[in-house]
Amino acid sequence: MKYREIREQVLEAILEAVDLGLIKGTSGNIAIREPDGDMVAITPSGVAYKTMKVEDIAIITLNGEWVDGPFKPSSETPMHTAILRARSDVRATVHTHGIFATVMAMLDEELKPTTPPQSEFAPIRTVPFIMPGTEDLAKAVVDTLGDARVVLMQNHGMMCCGKTIKDAMAAATYTEEMAQTAYYAKLLGCFKPLPEESVRQMQALIAADKAV
Ligand SMILES: [Zn+2]
Repeated sequence: MKYREIREQVLEAILEAVDLGLIKGTSGNIAIREPDGDMVAITPSGVAYKTMKVEDIAIITLNGEWVDGPFKPSSETPMHTAILRARSDVRATVHTHGIFATVMAMLDEELKPTTPPQSEFAPIRTVPFIMPGTEDLAKAVVDTLGDARVVLMQNHGMMCCGKTIKDAMAAATYTEEMAQTAYYAKLLGCFKPLPEESVRQMQALIAADKAV
């Protein structure tokens, strides 16, 4: 089988995302670019993740052209490939329909970190609703993302990226946690994000690999 390594990584990550409750049913999708190439493994469209096999993972080019695998690639391919084309530092993308991220996206404001580990993923800006699977959404996601790690998409969910699939999964996990924390704190009327200076200090520590 061609591209076994990235196919295995996609399958492992999607099963982990299902176990963590980040992805349900066939919603959400994950893409991983070859470490030294331009081919991309991505979850296929409409196949139940729990029973998916390594060979079921679709292989596409950076432009989203389907080149291998029995099932067509995710209908949300354009936003994954748009990020991978725009960001040479990114090798993996994770998209979820997380409930708290979706709720917080409706607020139309930046999602702010409330704990030190969440700082790594700030700033998190929001893209207005645009039809899924379109080039228009892909462009808006890339433009809003800039050099950040995460964007929220209104009435849809989140799009995360990272140097590795581990980094992209951490972004998805912490963003959902960030959204959940902010949601409950706002309900209680006690929402208090980390001071921006502390966020910058945490980001410097994380970049220097000195965060505890
Ligand atoms: Zn989606």
